[in-house]
Amino acid sequence: MVDTIEHDLLIVGSGLAGLRAAIQAAKTSSNIKIAVISKLQVMRSHSVSAEGGTAAVLFPEEGDSIESHVYDTVKGSDFLGDQDVIEKLVNEMPSEIYQLEHWGMPWSRREDGRIGQRNFGGYSYPRATFAQDKVGFYEMQTLYDTCQKFDNIEFYNEWFTTSIIHDGQKFCGITAIKLSSGTFYTIKGKALIIATGGAGRLYSYSTYSLSSTPEGLDMAYRAGMALKDMEFVQFHPTGILPSGILITEGARGEGGYLLNKDGDRFMKKYAPSKLELASRDVVSRAMMTEINEGRGFKHETGVDCLKLDLRHLGNELIIKKLPAIREISLKFSGIDPAKEPIDVRPVSHYMMGGIHTNIDGATEIQGIWAAGEAACNSVHGANRLGANSTAECLVWGKITGDLAAKYVLEAKSPQFPLHLVSAEEKRIYDGIFRGSGSVNPYEVRQDLTDMMNEKAYVFRNENDLIDGLKKLRELKQKTWKHVDDKAKEYNTNFSNVMELDSMFRVAEVILVGAIARKESRGAHARTDYPDRDDKNFLHHTLVYYDTKEPIIKKHPVTITKYKPVERKY
Ligand SMILES: Cc1cc2nc3c(=O)[nH]c(=O)nc-3n(C[C@H](O)[C@H](O)[C@H](O)COP(=O)(O)OP(=O)(O)OC[C@H]3O[C@@H](n4cnc5c(N)ncnc54)[C@H](O)[C@@H]3O)c2cc1C
Repeated sequence: MVDTIEHDLLIVGSGLAGLRAAIQAAKTSSNIKIAVISKLQVMRSHSVSAEGGTAAVLFPEEGDSIESHVYDTVKGSDFLGDQDVIEKLVNEMPSEIYQLEHWGMPWSRREDGRIGQRNFGGYSYPRATFAQDKVGFYEMQTLYDTCQKFDNIEFYNEWFTTSIIHDGQKFCGITAIKLSSGTFYTIKGKALIIATGGAGRLYSYSTYSLSSTPEGLDMAYRAGMALKDMEFVQFHPTGILPSGILITEGARGEGGYLLNKDGDRFMKKYAPSKLELASRDVVSRAMMTEINEGRGFKHETGVDCLKLDLRHLGNELIIKKLPAIREISLKFSGIDPAKEPIDVRPVSHYMMGGIHTNIDGATEIQGIWAAGEAACNSVHGANRLGANSTAECLVWGKITGDLAAKYVLEAKSPQFPLHLVSAEEKRIYDGIFRGSGSVNPYEVRQDLTDMMNEKAYVFRNENDLIDGLKKLRELKQKTWKHVDDKAKEYNTNFSNVMELDSMFRVAEVILVGAIARKESRGAHARTDYPDRDDKNFLHHTLVYYDTKEPIIKKHPVTITKYKPVERKY
């Protein structure tokens, strides 16, 4: 008999989206029991590493406007963003900034005492609201602290969720392993918010936390929900070598620039007006073109790179506004950015795709919502603008928390399909924990993520993508599904192999989506189809799970005001 716990509302994920959802649900009703389930301790969630800012229109009287933020985001998305969803984000954001302020967020300040905002790529106005270069850490601390005010939020830290249970129509519960004891549980609930974040660790060169793996996406996919627009993976222009840790766009927002080996500020050729502050897809492609045409530097590890120069900003500004960048450069690269340029290269940084939701974050199954990076409500389309993601987490954390709490107040407990719990127990214990084989799963994981880095990076083409898919399927056939450490408590070997199991399915979705999209749009740049093709591809990609092959469908884009035009920066 599997141990069972019951709550009304389950929130899987304790990043910005999960915490914001928990607070809103608790505010909507003090009579519902809310559980926040996370495979990590709360403050280790990836969101703490957000650096540069959160986008919002705060000062219309000084020249910013809602319309401008909306249009910048639509243009940034390469016209694949749903425009009604973008309008919602932009309209809701200013009050989220002030809400956080009232909960204790230490926003950086201007000389006149008002909240500080800085420039970010793709924006026509400096609207990235910042707290030094540690915005995610301060936002998380503020939200976590606020959660403590509510008696009806209970945290299940270090619980690894493995599946979503529904009866074909309605949500019923999840299964999870309590990592400290190794016990397998059913957690019943009437509603679920999936807030499990992105999966950038599908790539070996990545800015993401090591924990950013795709179990949340995979659980939804296996449970019959579509994954949407997964072929759009954002490569941030400035990952520091050799680790890939992020050098925030805020560094370019403060005036830093990129140089090639001829000492040329090459962005003037690719984006004459915005230069280094063009959108990320544009800057990353420019960098890879410079490297591919022989104008890059060779890093001591043998990897090609370019230089990010901050020297002209001066030590004082760097210490005041970019202290984390200085620390990262010194500790992980041995470089003082006030004295030497930093070695950088485009790095996997964000997934525009995720679990298919509507404008309110509702998925295709009743009682299940998704919020934050795990969700794809299509706010970012083919390319996200920096600072719009923490914003998205706040806005849809609030919306889904409220809607799920209201739903719970009305919903009846469904008949629980116990056979699905037994099937899941069998899948992970017989199929993985007690599996056998001689192939090292850690090596397979490295091979899989190296393949993604090689075949589905900034520039893609049919041959590479098909090769990548073939390699993925060969790796999947190997006998890596076994756990050699038989400990019950904190069995990280077990967690790693479960993560790898999910990585295979979700990497396959990225590759099949990228093969099917025979055009270049936003972050998806095909050298064999270099142009955007609105006639055939102005649609979202939906991918559904099937035991044989993923099933691909199309979904319309919502265009309210702005007809697609050529994008120039
Ligand atoms: C280095 C870096 C800097 C960034 N800076 C910015 C920025 O300045 N501005 C901006 O707007 N965006 C930024 N982003 C993007 C932004 O940080 C993320 O998109 C956002 O924080 C995601 O938050 P989230 O709540 O969706 O998920 P996360 O914070 O990733 O949280 C995911 C949660 O899900 C839990 N989870 C996952 N799988 C399981 C499982 N199997 N069982 C149980 N729990 C699970 C995890 O424990 C975690 O609590 C940055 C991204 C990176 C990589």
